[in-house]
Amino acid sequence: MIGFAVELPIFAAMEPFASILESWYAEHRRELPWRETRDPYRIWISEIILQQTRVAQGEAYYRRFIERFPDVEALAAAPDDEVMKYWQGLGYYSRARHLHAAARSLAGRGFPTDYEGVRALQGVGDYTAAAICSFAYDLPCAVVDGNVYRVLARYFGIDAPIDSSRGKNIFAAMAAEMLDRRHPALYNQAIMEFGALQCTHSAPACLLCPLSDGCQALATGRVGELPVKQHRTKTVSRYFHYLYIVSGSDAFIRRREADDIWRHLYELPLVEADHPLSEEELRHRIVEEWACPDEALASLRPLLRGVKHVLSHRILPTDFYRMEWPCRQEPPAGYQRVPQESLSDYAFPRLIDAFFEKNR
Ligand code: SF4
Repeated sequence: MIGFAVELPIFAAMEPFASILESWYAEHRRELPWRETRDPYRIWISEIILQQTRVAQGEAYYRRFIERFPDVEALAAAPDDEVMKYWQGLGYYSRARHLHAAARSLAGRGFPTDYEGVRALQGVGDYTAAAICSFAYDLPCAVVDGNVYRVLARYFGIDAPIDSSRGKNIFAAMAAEMLDRRHPALYNQAIMEFGALQCTHSAPACLLCPLSDGCQALATGRVGELPVKQHRTKTVSRYFHYLYIVSGSDAFIRRREADDIWRHLYELPLVEADHPLSEEELRHRIVEEWACPDEALASLRPLLRGVKHVLSHRILPTDFYRMEWPCRQEPPAGYQRVPQESLSDYAFPRLIDAFFEKNR
């Protein structure tokens, strides 16, 4: 077993490891649109989309995004709300904001061609910079993502926690050592695809694995234990109560501006709490927080309760209510009046969009 003070794998091990992965990849690779290009802009977009999105979902978003924003200049020139609309439903909306800001910083200058220039782009970390530089320019930059951690940890039997700085250093050094410097793009794609399809998190196909002869985790019965993480992320619940407030043919919405989830997306009037509110408690909160006319309060009724929306590290149990608001009355402070028929022009979080699909 290789521990913390890991000896990096002997160089002689690199050849078969890399060539086995590359042969496997030639047979098993998925045809994906960003694998058919060397355009750094397109690879950048795909990598940002795939940071926290499954390939199956990300592919459709990628195609739509590239069709509308085919290059840096098109993305840089687009309004904020339109970029968010194209990202709607993907989650982790800071990715879209960073992409847009970075495109604006690049407009007229061309895409950077070295690792430092790519790494300096807003929203681009070590992994994404290595992926762009190897896939677009064949630079010898080793990628280290969740799939690579898993394959290396299991094959070499490394139990250093992948979320410790020492573990990160060990894996980064090992990934660089194992990189096929003659074919960095091919090797990086191969090891990531191998982790995604063969050496998977919960169902690795060890019986059919071309690396099984040398796999330390398989030999020592530790496949299910590796890679190791030292911290479990704490999950927090936030209780949302959304009000679909109808005022004649209008509804009320606002753009989320705070440094919080869903920044720059739109939402319905919200009452948030640290516990689920009964209808009675909700009425009290509405009266406390908004100048709410009595007739509007009297019209409050539940539409959909007990929706559970899950984000990373957060669970959002959510209830939706409806309320009729007098046309002559201003919306609650911070909200704007928009025609109901134009709601589809705004980018909402998936939670609210799904509510619209079911209830309008
Ligand atoms: S034998 Fe199993 S654990 Fe080892 S590399 Fe192959 S799939 Fe992964």
